[in-house]
Amino acid sequence: STAPTVSKMNGHFAAVGDAPTKAQYGHGVQVIDEDKEFNSNLSSYLVATDVAEAGFNYHLISVFGSQSTGKSTLLNNLFGTDFNVMSETERRQTTKGIWMSKNKTASMTDNILVMDVEGTDGRERGEDQDFERKSALFALATSEVLIVNIWEHQVGLYQGANMGLLKTVFEVNLQLFLKDKQSTPRSLLFFVIRDHIGNTPLANLRNTLIQDLTKIWSSISKPQGLEKVRIEDYFDFAFAALPHKILQPEKFVDEVKNLGKRFVAGSRNAKTQLEHGDRELEGGVFLPEYHRRIPADGFSVYAEGVWDQIVNNKDLDLPTQQELLAQFRCDEISREVLILFDAAIGPLEEQQAEASRIGKPLVLADLGETGKQTREKCVKAFEIQAGRYHKAVYARKRAELEGKIDQRLKTLYHGQLTAAHKSGVASFSDAVAGDVKAGQKSGAAYEFAEIVATEKAKCLDQFKTEVQNLTIPGVAWTNFTPQQVLFEKELDEVSARLRKEEMRRLATRVERWVKSRLGDAVGLEFNKLGSGRAGSGAPEEGGKPPTEKDLWDRIWAVFASIVKEAEGRFTDRAKSFEASEAEVEVGLWRLRRKSWVALRERVDEEVMEGNILLKLRENFEDKFRYDEAGVPRIWRPADDIEGIYTRARESTLTLIPLLSRFRLSTTYAPPDLPTFIGHQPVGVEPEDEDDLTPIGGVDEEDGKSLEEEMTVLSEGKRQDLVVRFKKMADGVYVEAKRSAIGGVAQ
Ligand code: GDP
Ligand code: MG
Repeated sequence: STAPTVSKMNGHFAAVGDAPTKAQYGHGVQVIDEDKEFNSNLSSYLVATDVAEAGFNYHLISVFGSQSTGKSTLLNNLFGTDFNVMSETERRQTTKGIWMSKNKTASMTDNILVMDVEGTDGRERGEDQDFERKSALFALATSEVLIVNIWEHQVGLYQGANMGLLKTVFEVNLQLFLKDKQSTPRSLLFFVIRDHIGNTPLANLRNTLIQDLTKIWSSISKPQGLEKVRIEDYFDFAFAALPHKILQPEKFVDEVKNLGKRFVAGSRNAKTQLEHGDRELEGGVFLPEYHRRIPADGFSVYAEGVWDQIVNNKDLDLPTQQELLAQFRCDEISREVLILFDAAIGPLEEQQAEASRIGKPLVLADLGETGKQTREKCVKAFEIQAGRYHKAVYARKRAELEGKIDQRLKTLYHGQLTAAHKSGVASFSDAVAGDVKAGQKSGAAYEFAEIVATEKAKCLDQFKTEVQNLTIPGVAWTNFTPQQVLFEKELDEVSARLRKEEMRRLATRVERWVKSRLGDAVGLEFNKLGSGRAGSGAPEEGGKPPTEKDLWDRIWAVFASIVKEAEGRFTDRAKSFEASEAEVEVGLWRLRRKSWVALRERVDEEVMEGNILLKLRENFEDKFRYDEAGVPRIWRPADDIEGIYTRARESTLTLIPLLSRFRLSTTYAPPDLPTFIGHQPVGVEPEDEDDLTPIGGVDEEDGKSLEEEMTVLSEGKRQDLVVRFKKMADGVYVEAKRSAIGGVAQ
C-alpha cells in the first residue's frame, strides 16, 4: 500500500515496500522510514537472519544521540554492521528513520539486534521533536539497552541537545510503564562518551552525568501516584569512553574491542548496587530483567502494533499490546499447527467419510497411534511457540486449539468405533456360522456354546484393543468404556439370536426324527387293522377286547413315548449350548405341538379314502375268508355264507366309528391333549408362533374344540365309507356265493 521509498543510498538496502531477499539485507532493514511508515519486511528480515526462531534468546539495543556524532560509525565498528555513515566530505544526515541490523561480531552473544535511530537536534528536520519522542517511545518499548552517544565536551552541558533527548526518554518511560506496574521493566542507559581526550577520568565524567540525570529526573513532571519514583527504579547506567576515531584510530579500535566484550549476559554486583545512583553491572550488559519478553517470532507484529499506537498518538499500553500480540500470534501458530494436523489426519477423515458414504465400515489401521502422536505433536508445537506469549491468552488459545483437534479426533474415533462395532458384530456371526457349518460337515457333535464363547472372546478382544489404542491417558473424552459395553451387549444379543437359530435347527432335526418314527409306528398300528383275527373276532365272543378297540390307546402311547424321547434329545442338546430354561421350555412346547400336528397328518394319511378302504377290506376279508384257525374257507353251497358274511361285515363296520374319533378305550374320551402340550410358556415370541398350526381344544381362540381336533373322519366321510365298504363287501359276498355254486357245478 505504501509507495516504495526511493533511497539515495548506494549498495544493498531494504526499505519500506520492498520484498527483499537475504542478499538485499546488507545494510539491515529499515524498520521505520522517514515518512514514519512501518516496514513489515521486518519479519522476513528476522527470518532471514535466523533470529525469528530464537524465542527469547535475542537482544535489542538502540542507539540515541545527536546527529553526526558518529553513532552509525560506532555501531558498525562495534557490531560489524553496515549502517550508512555520513561521508567525510558531505556533511549531511544519512540515517533516516530507524534501521535495524543483526550483530556480526562473532565474539558476542547470539542474536543481538541493533537499532540505529535517526539523530536528533534535526538540522535537516528543523525543530521537529515529534520524531525524537516517537522513536524514544519505540526504542523503550522494545529495547533492553539504550546507547546514548555523547561527545566528551558535551558532558556537563546540562542545556545541551542530549539533555533534551534524555528528558524526553525519561518522560516517555514514565508514560509507557505507568500502566505496567506489575512488571516494572528496566532499561540500561549506556553512555558512550566519544572523543575522550583522557584528561578527565571516566569516573568523573560518570559522576557529572549522573548528577545531570538526577537533575533532569527531578525536573520532569511525574504522573499521579508516581511522584516519589526514583530514576534508579527504572534505569541502570553504564559508561564507556572512546578515543577520537580519526586522531587515534588504533586506540579507537582497541577500545571498541574492549567495549564489545561487555555485550554478553551479565548480572548485578550486589556490593556496589546502592553506592551511587547507578548500578554496577558484572559481566555483561544483558540482564534478564531488561528483556521485553517479546518472542522473536512475534517481534515484528508487536513492533508494528506499538509503532501504530505511537504514530497515531494513541495511549501506548504495552500489556494490551502484548495481549494483542499473543492473540495474533497464537492464532497464527494455531493455524500452522492445524496444517500439520490436517496433513496427518485429513486423509484419514476422507477415507472414513468415503467408507461411510458407500456404507462399508472401515477400521483405519493404527488410528490410535496416529491420532495420539499427531495430537501430541501439534499441542507440543503450539506450546513451544505460543507458550512464550501472554500466559492467559496462550492458555485460552491452547484450549481452543485442543478443542478443535479433539473435536475432529473425537468424530474420527467415534466413526472408528462404529466401524469396529459393525465389522466386529458381522465377523462374529460369520465366524460362528462358519464354525457351525464346519462342525456339521465333520459330523462330530460340535459344541455350540464353546464356539460362541471362543468367537465372542476373539471379537471382544479385538474391540478392546482398538479401544485401548484410541485411549489417550488423562484425556477424558477418550474413555470408550460405554462403547465397549455396548459392543459386548450386542455380541450377546447376536449370540442369543444365533443360539435361537441353532435351536431352530435342532428343533427341525428332532421334528424330522419324530415324523419318521411316527410314520413307522402309526403305519404299523394301522396295518394291524388289516388282520381281522388280530382282535380275535367279535367282542361278545372273546373275554379280551379286540385289538381294534385299543388302536388309539396304542397310537397315543407310542406317540407319547416318541415325543418323550424327542424331548430328551432336544433338552440335552439345547442345554449343551447353554440355552436358557425358558428357551428350552419354548422349544419343547413347540416340539410337542409340532409332533401332534405330525401325528394328525400321519393319521389323516392313513384314513385317506383309498388307504382306509383297503384296510377295511383286508379286515373284512380276513374275517370272512378265513376260519377261526386261520385256514382259508372253501365255500360249499351248504355253508352259512350269509351268516359269516353278516358277522364279518358287522365286525368290520364297527371299526368305522372307532376310526372316526381319536378316543381312548379306557376313558372313551379323547386323550388330554391340552395337558400333554401344556400351557404356552411365557418366553414365546411372535416368531415362535409363526409356523405353528392351530390345535383345537388347545388354542381356544381358534374356535375349534378338542372334539373337532380329535375327529378323524367327518360324518359325511364316515357314511360314505360305510356305503363304499358295504358295496365292496357285497361284491366279496357275491363272489363267494358264486364260487360256492360254481364249486358244486364243477
Ligand atoms: P551519525 O550521524 O551519528 O550516525 O554519525 P556518522 O557515523 O554518520 O558519522 C558522522 C561523521 O563523524 C562522519 O564523518 C564520521 O567520519 C565522523 N566520525 C565518526 N566517528 C568519529 C569519532 O569518533 N570522532 C569524530 N570526531 N568524528 C567521528
Ligand atoms: Mg547515523
